[in-house]
Amino acid sequence: MAYEVLARKWRPQQFADVVGQNHVTQTLQNAITANRIAHAYLFVGPRGTGKTSLARLFAKALNCKTGPTITPCDVCDSCREITAGTSLDVQEIDGASNNSVEQVRELRDNVKFAPTHGKYKIYIIDEVHMLSTAAFNALLKTLEEPPAHVKFFFATTEAHKVLPTIVSRCQRFDLRRIPVALIIERLNLIASEEKVSLDSDAALAIARGAEGGLRDAESALDQLIAFRGETIAEADVLAVFGLVSRQTLELLATAILKGNVGEIVRTIAELDSAGKDMQRLVLELLDHFRTLLVYLCVPEAAPTLDVIAPQVESLKQQAQLADPDRLMRIAEVLSQAEDRMRYSLSRRTLVETSLIRCARATTVSVDDLMKRLEALSQSVGGGAMVPSPTSARVEAVREPSPPAYAPRAQAPVSRAPVSPVSKPSPAPASVKSELDVLTVQWRDQIVERVKREVALAGVALLDAKPLLVEQNRVVIGFDPQFARKLEQIKIPTYHAAVHKIMVQFLKRPVNVECVLMTGEGSADVPADHTVDKGAGANSRAGSAPHSKTRQDWHQEPVVRKTLEFFNGSIVDIRE
Ligand SMILES: [Zn+2]
Repeated sequence: MAYEVLARKWRPQQFADVVGQNHVTQTLQNAITANRIAHAYLFVGPRGTGKTSLARLFAKALNCKTGPTITPCDVCDSCREITAGTSLDVQEIDGASNNSVEQVRELRDNVKFAPTHGKYKIYIIDEVHMLSTAAFNALLKTLEEPPAHVKFFFATTEAHKVLPTIVSRCQRFDLRRIPVALIIERLNLIASEEKVSLDSDAALAIARGAEGGLRDAESALDQLIAFRGETIAEADVLAVFGLVSRQTLELLATAILKGNVGEIVRTIAELDSAGKDMQRLVLELLDHFRTLLVYLCVPEAAPTLDVIAPQVESLKQQAQLADPDRLMRIAEVLSQAEDRMRYSLSRRTLVETSLIRCARATTVSVDDLMKRLEALSQSVGGGAMVPSPTSARVEAVREPSPPAYAPRAQAPVSRAPVSPVSKPSPAPASVKSELDVLTVQWRDQIVERVKREVALAGVALLDAKPLLVEQNRVVIGFDPQFARKLEQIKIPTYHAAVHKIMVQFLKRPVNVECVLMTGEGSADVPADHTVDKGAGANSRAGSAPHSKTRQDWHQEPVVRKTLEFFNGSIVDIRE
């Protein structure tokens, strides 16, 4: 027998076989039983969710020799012809193809003739929103007064593009994305029938890759069987689809929640060199945090979440690290990143900075903020920086180095209003935090501002990142793949723009050096100022030194205390 692709071979032949669309199959079966069949139906839904399969199945149910029936016999001529796609009474038109206008005209001429075998002449028009205006108009005339023996089944992924005059003449059914659990179930069934061994993480990976489309999942399984033969493991699926393993995804999410920037940077470097799809990664993380948010906010909805058992375990653990406000903030950052991904030349840099931003995302409620402000004004306003009685307790409970993200629920004491702990902060720590600030603010504060000075200089900077910030020196690194951008940025006017913005941002004169990075994102940071000294060092911005540097401000008791209260960092200094 000729080879048949799985998606076709396993196309549902009975209403009971349709996966994940009970709300539609139930209504259609009720209509058949009650003999209340409309003239036209519109099936709307994402690709691969079963729109045309349902239309064919419905056609078979209507035209079966025993029909209209909710269980077509699959043996009569009509059933077999419809299954094989050779029935003269059921015509399929692809709205996207060029000849669909001719077909619609032909249809208009032919509808008046009675069906050959079955009871109905059924027209299935796929991607109906793609029909040309001429075809639409031809169709509309027929649709206004269809003969009793004619039925129309339309399918579309984009209902809003279908003419309202057509939609209003149809019964509309919205098909859903199919839940991961149901896709897995179906894949397991097919695998066992096809004598293929498919482990559970492999099935999950396929289902994740299919994004709710069963047909995509089945095609993927097909490809994998061709690629790997009879045993399919998670690694095979990940390799073929550029996906990240469930475990890595969960580790990354944990690193974000724990504020572990090192782990994030290391993981991204690994995934990038393994050629993983960065956009996909961001989408999956976004989905993960959404699920975590639901898990956290609506515990009773947990059983309805589209996750498998091991995922629930990790959700449980991560819920200890998160609070809803912070998750909302993370989701916001991720969806912004997803949005920018399309235009970004260096996806890796974008993902990296976005995840670091997520790791640092903290949120405070307004109430909380007010309380803290009050406490702050009391302790600072009195001029007394003497530890209050509570401070000893606060200090005792605090971890040696409290993580910046400390979730509210977990460590309420760390939010106690008074915290006069002013550890001497050595210069290197504040220098490092300046680099962090610069990294997080890179796109918004540096790239965007440079763009306003010299647009192309800003574009070149998109693919760079800050490597080092010292008292009078900033080093910016470019991946070797963006060596050309480095050359561009050395053009004097470009460099002057970067220099100007950097001086404005840091509030002190600095030299800006641009270098090529080597290997895994590490940089050959030159030890001295031999490389490309700030060409714009004499620009006006550079010649206006501020009375106090960022570091000076860091040493100010009031500033230090404020930073501590809000787990903040100095972003901008205005005088
Ligand atoms: Zn039949």
